[in-house]
Amino acid sequence: AGDRGVYNFAAGPATLPESVILKAQSELYNYRGSGMSIMEMSHRGKEFDAVIKKAESDLRRLLSISDDFAVLFLQGGATTQFAAVPLNLCKPDDPADYITTGSWSDKAYKEAQKFCKPNVVWSGKSEKYTKIPSFDEIRQNPDAKYLHICGNETIHGVEYKDYPEPKNKNSILVADMSSNFCSKPVDVSKFGLIYAGAQKNVGPSGVTIVIVRRDLIGDPQPITPVMLDYKIHADNASLYNTPPCFAVYICALVFEDLLDQGGLQAVEEKNAKKAGILYEAIERSGGFYVCPVDKSVKSLMNVPFTLQNSDLEKKFIAEAAKEGMIQLKGHRSVGGVRASIYNAMPLAGVEKLVAFMKDFQARHP
Ligand code: PLP
Repeated sequence: AGDRGVYNFAAGPATLPESVILKAQSELYNYRGSGMSIMEMSHRGKEFDAVIKKAESDLRRLLSISDDFAVLFLQGGATTQFAAVPLNLCKPDDPADYITTGSWSDKAYKEAQKFCKPNVVWSGKSEKYTKIPSFDEIRQNPDAKYLHICGNETIHGVEYKDYPEPKNKNSILVADMSSNFCSKPVDVSKFGLIYAGAQKNVGPSGVTIVIVRRDLIGDPQPITPVMLDYKIHADNASLYNTPPCFAVYICALVFEDLLDQGGLQAVEEKNAKKAGILYEAIERSGGFYVCPVDKSVKSLMNVPFTLQNSDLEKKFIAEAAKEGMIQLKGHRSVGGVRASIYNAMPLAGVEKLVAFMKDFQARHP
């Protein structure tokens, strides 16, 4: 658990690689001999220019992003993208398709109602957001400009394992990947647009990454604020205005670390192992712990579960915290327990949690 003595299971902002935090700490006061902190220098100076360029080129390597796509470092969180997507890809009367598999895709749909004519083409609400639809179940609109999905629902713990294709060949796939970004390889060429708030797998809060096909941008709705116009940010290499410099710097360190680990294939293998032992512990508890999510779409990143005896949940979370496993409380909208096990959560942290779960169960027969 490092010198800080805890394993942090927060859903975001979340734990980052120990080596990244220590490196940032060592460079915080005097960045590479510049006499300035990265927080104190011009975003147009040579030091920061090198940081943002490296962040972009390392991310392009990690996800094999071709030059057909722009990579943008923006502000406003993934929530701002809920509006930016329809503003850039639709006119006010254009239809767009939304699959709602949890709270986040539902929020994206609701925001889009202000800027285009979105349709929910499949909803998991009646089954308490425990499923992802099969391709045949999605009733797509033939005129939809895009099909929007949330790659991983952070609150409900459902994650796409295969991505749907828009049935209409002029439509594009748009994904909110905030909570599984860079947790596994993704074929970016299958998407028109991917967006992700950084604060789960790749950095602190404050920067949102957008990967968008260049031919789709440049014709936003007239009311689009400059800050939400992808073309303006693409033409200015994310330096149209002052970017979130410190957050971009931390992302650059994380991307370098992910490449050093062998890239996203290697990262996915580690994530699958961690999630595997945790889900197995839940399944083998004989119903003491319950994860409601359909087996085939269980998230590798966020593992929500309840205790059969819900009166014990508070005690479980408090005792785990005493033993150095913190931020295990489920989202306020659903309760229960949630273990977020992003890239930076070590296997040892999950093993410790599993051992604690077995011990807690034994003490509460
Ligand atoms: N989408 C998903 C999948 C999320 O998990 C979150 C936040 O947790 C958001 C969107 C909203 O992100 P932000 O708080 O950066 O606006």
